[in-house]
Amino acid sequence: MSSTPLLQVRGLTKRYLGLTAVDGLSYEVEAGSIVGLIGPNGSGKSTSIDCVSGFQRADAGDWFLDGHKLRDVPPHRIAALGLTRTFQTVRAYEDLSLLENLRVAAQESDGHGWFSALRRSAPLRESEARAAQRAGALLESVGLSRYADAPAAVLSYGQRKLLAIAASVMARPRLVILDEPVAGVNPTMVRHIEEVIREFNAQGVALLIVEHNVDFIMNLCQRVVVLESGRKIADGPPGLIRSDPRVLEAYLGP
Ligand code: ADP
Ligand code: MG
Repeated sequence: MSSTPLLQVRGLTKRYLGLTAVDGLSYEVEAGSIVGLIGPNGSGKSTSIDCVSGFQRADAGDWFLDGHKLRDVPPHRIAALGLTRTFQTVRAYEDLSLLENLRVAAQESDGHGWFSALRRSAPLRESEARAAQRAGALLESVGLSRYADAPAAVLSYGQRKLLAIAASVMARPRLVILDEPVAGVNPTMVRHIEEVIREFNAQGVALLIVEHNVDFIMNLCQRVVVLESGRKIADGPPGLIRSDPRVLEAYLGP
């Protein structure tokens, strides 16, 4: 039990003018586990993961991936170290095909950006062939292979969420952070996304999942961290979280 956790967050703090959006937040994600991050609207979930993944600058705290200090490391380098993420509002390259979207995602993790992803120079050919194969296999595993060559613009809202999840694992990360992977998605697609998450987890990817859908989180996660007004008010297995008086009061209702 004394081994280093995959992700270790210590005292993460982020302020916006007069507001402390995240206040001394500490938690851990063990390798290969699924951890949920829940809390009322505005409790600091997105802000905290934006800081951890390098998309926002924190005011205080330190966080480590497998012992590598991530504070002040830019997002593409964090991705290259093995931590990728999706966004609450899905970002896809609308005019690029699904296969191209996935290959761009892999290149972004390499820190090369999307221009070089589409370049066809000789030294890149072998790794491109491997990337194309991986992209095809991922589309197959999330059930989007029939749209492989179609532009992302044809996808439904739920299918975009799936594409984003596939893109997040393209570069074989060790930890993926999902920001609201099933928000606004129909029940059938919710079940499908849950299966996809379980499958990637079975392949060894750890996940930190931010969601409003409490049942989804309780069902899927081994551990749940609860935020209220930027502070952690509970951290434990779903069974304990469901009956925690502070959580019931703050979030789950009477
Ligand atoms: P959650 O994801 O839990 O809904 P957020 O992290 O989005 O919460 O927001 C936490 C708090 O920080 C909220 O009070 C929100 O209004 C505030 N906030 C978020 N982003 C900004 C910003 N860019 N500027 C000012 N305040 C912000
Ligand atoms: Mg949010």
